[in-house]
Amino acid sequence: MKLREYEAKKVLKESGIPVPAGVLVRSADELASRLNEIGDAIVLKAQVDVGGRGKAGGILAAEKHTAVAMARELFEKQIKGLPVREILVEQKLAIVHEYYLSITIDRAAKAPLILFSDVGGVEIETMAKEHPDAIRKAVAMPLMRDLPPFMIRELAGKAVKEVGPIINKLYRVFCEKDALLAEINPLVVTSQGVFAADAKIIVDDNALARQGIFVNRDLSEREREAEKHGFSYVELGGNIGVIGNGAGLTMATLDLIGYYGGNAANFLDVGGGAESERVMHAVRLVASLPSVNVIVVNLLGGITKCDEVARGIIAAGIPQKVIVRLAGTNEAEGRRLLSEKGYEMLDTMDLVVKKAIGVAR
Ligand code: GDP
Ligand code: MN
Repeated sequence: MKLREYEAKKVLKESGIPVPAGVLVRSADELASRLNEIGDAIVLKAQVDVGGRGKAGGILAAEKHTAVAMARELFEKQIKGLPVREILVEQKLAIVHEYYLSITIDRAAKAPLILFSDVGGVEIETMAKEHPDAIRKAVAMPLMRDLPPFMIRELAGKAVKEVGPIINKLYRVFCEKDALLAEINPLVVTSQGVFAADAKIIVDDNALARQGIFVNRDLSEREREAEKHGFSYVELGGNIGVIGNGAGLTMATLDLIGYYGGNAANFLDVGGGAESERVMHAVRLVASLPSVNVIVVNLLGGITKCDEVARGIIAAGIPQKVIVRLAGTNEAEGRRLLSEKGYEMLDTMDLVVKKAIGVAR
C-alpha cells in the first residue's frame, strides 16, 4: 500500500528525518482558517497518487495572500486524471541543492538496495538515462539494523556529513515499516539544513496487519458476510456459482469453467475442515448472487468430511440447482444423504463443470 506524501512525511518526521513544516487541508476554506500556521512563502502540493505531479501542475508556489485562491483552483483541477481532495500546504524551501535517495528490494540479491544520487528532483528513470554515472548503489545486509559507515560513505561521497545520518534513518524506516520502497526525491539542501521535500513509502501488503494499517475498503454486503465466515471470496460476474475447498482446487474449477466456455459467478474457498454449518452459509451466500442459476460444489474430503458437506448443502435449501462432486473422507455417507434428497452428483470435476454449463445456458 502506497502512503500519501503527508502520511509518508509523518513517518519520516517521527524517525528524525526533517520535513518542511506543513498542514493538510481538504478545502480552500480550511486553508483560510489555518494560514497563520504557515509562513509567507508557501507550496501547495496536491495529494494524488501519481508521480511527476510537479510537471503535471500539482505543485504550485504561492504566497500568503494568494494561497487560498490558488488552493481553490487546485481543488477544481484534475492531476493526471485524478481529482484533488487533499492539499499539503508547506513552508516553501529555499533550495540550494537536490539529492535523490531511495531504498527498494533487490530481488536478485534478496536484500535492500540503496540508491543515492547527486542529481535529485528528476525521476529515477530520467536520471538513469541522462546521468547514469551519478547514481551510486549499495546492497544492505538484511539482518543489520544500521548500515555500516563505509557503505554510507560510498553512497554519499562528499555529501556524507550532510546526508549520511538521513540515509541511515531512512534505512531504519524501510526495515521497521516493512516497506517495499522508501524514497526521498528530492532530498533538499537549504541554508537551514537538509529536508525531505518529497516522500514516498510503499508498505508491503502482507505486512499491513503487523503495521496496524487497516485499509478502509468498501465491502459489499456479501463480501462482509464472507469475511465474517472466513471464506476467501471474490465476485466474478458470471452465472455459475462456485464453491470449493482449497485455493488450488477452487481455481482449477474456475479454469475448467472458462475452458469449456462457461462464466463463473464467483470464487469461494470454504477452507479446510468445513463443518455443515459453514458449508450451508457458503451455499446460501453464493445462491444470493442474483446472476447465479446453478452452483458447482467441488469438495475434496480430507479433514473435511463429505457427510458434513452433504448436510450443509441440504440445510441451505436454495432454489437453484446444485451439482456436486464429492470425494474422500466419508464419501459414501455424503453421497447417500444427497441422493436421498435428489441432488445430482458426478464423479469428476470435468463432468460437474460441463453439466453446470449446460444448466446455466
Ligand atoms: P513530484 O513531482 O510528484 O515528485 O513532487 P515533488 O514533491 O518531488 O516536487 C517536484 C519539484 O517541486 C521538486 O523537485 C522541487 O524542485 C519542487 N519543490 C517541491 N517542494 C518545494 C519547496 O518547498 N520549495 C521549492 N523551491 N521547490 C519545491
Ligand atoms: Mn518527487
